[in-house]
Amino acid sequence: MKVLLIGSGGREHALGWKLAQSDRVSELLSLPGNPGLALLGPLVEGVEPTDVGAVAALARIHRIDLVVVGPEAPLAAGVADALSRLGIPVFGPSRAAARLESSKTFAKEIMHRAGVPTARSWTFTTASDAHGHIDLTGGPFVVKADGLAAGKGVIVTVDSDEAHAWVDRCLEGGFGGAGATVVIEEFLEGAEVSVFAVCAGTEAVPLAPARDYKRLGDGDTGPNTGGMGAYSPVSDLPEGLVQWTMDEVVGPTLRQMADDGHPYTGFLYAGLILAPRGPQVLEFNVRLGDPETQVVLPRMETDIVDLIEGALNGGLVEPTWSDQAAVEIVLAADGYPEAPVKGTVITGIDRLPDDVIVFHAGTAREGKNLVVDGGRVLNLVAVGDTVAAARDRVYDAVETVRWRGMQYRRDIGGDPT
Ligand code: AMP
Repeated sequence: MKVLLIGSGGREHALGWKLAQSDRVSELLSLPGNPGLALLGPLVEGVEPTDVGAVAALARIHRIDLVVVGPEAPLAAGVADALSRLGIPVFGPSRAAARLESSKTFAKEIMHRAGVPTARSWTFTTASDAHGHIDLTGGPFVVKADGLAAGKGVIVTVDSDEAHAWVDRCLEGGFGGAGATVVIEEFLEGAEVSVFAVCAGTEAVPLAPARDYKRLGDGDTGPNTGGMGAYSPVSDLPEGLVQWTMDEVVGPTLRQMADDGHPYTGFLYAGLILAPRGPQVLEFNVRLGDPETQVVLPRMETDIVDLIEGALNGGLVEPTWSDQAAVEIVLAADGYPEAPVKGTVITGIDRLPDDVIVFHAGTAREGKNLVVDGGRVLNLVAVGDTVAAARDRVYDAVETVRWRGMQYRRDIGGDPT
């Protein structure tokens, strides 16, 4: 079958890598893809992934048998609806169902009606009401732009002035339309955990858990980033947490969505906080996580096409997992996350040992050179019998790759090496 993969980051390269291993995939096209995905099949140019009509037309012209969508923006724009209208199988939720991520207010309403435990929240569209709420409550304050803001729409602060300023920033267009509604949440404290599921209507199966690292620096210091590394499996999760999430979060949410006429198909990511009163949902994402996907898929033994087709055709399969562990380090650009320096030449990829998997995340070809073209540039992943063994393998190889100002954490998967 011919598969079209939408997206261009490390998550998508990992999805493409796994799709390309399937005997059933004869050709893998990527839109827009990246230099790593270009090694697996043609890249399609000239169409914006959020231009849903153009994506659907392209899939028809190329006689695509299956479309897999990596990021949230095309889903929130309605790419799955446009493809479905043409009868082209697509793995990812409809625009209406993607509101679980694209509107925090929508997600809260669904959770309340489904009885899913989540932080208390208040929604505002006028500044005076939001400011009044902050004045009446004590900190810490959690203020969120309602819509998609590329992970940048949230502030957690003890400082009420900052909370007020964030309200203004949202409502005055600092996040475009995404901030026209503001959500203020009860502050919760606890460790954060993500659980991923493959969903098909009211049915779902979990994927293996992974842990990611959001801060730039070792020991969880420095600014927040998109993610600086990950590992899987995670041995210290509370017992039964994945099953609890399936029973108490994913199941009720899917049933509520179906009852409301927005059945959900696709990957679903539940971001949880292990609060003193029990696990609470902080957010849903309507796609897999990046960088977690890059350690989850190398451990998955099941053919990903079987998994996806099962979900699309009413025969969900429970994936099987290797006992091995995977550890990933994200190599980031100089200046990341504030102002990544692009255009720097990358060397050494071709000298990496065969047992290290390279996923491209923010690279570009410039003539013969591979150059930095984003904040998170490359992901290196190694597999081993234990997290420690995988970690040693990937850290042994990391300095083979070089560019000016390359940054990475030295404590992914355990103690600094
Ligand atoms: P979100 O995009 O809604 O997941 O928020 C981004 C990050 O802000 C989360 O991963 C948490 O670290 C933090 N956060 C969000 N909501 C809360 C909350 N209610 N209490 C404490 N921290 C939160």
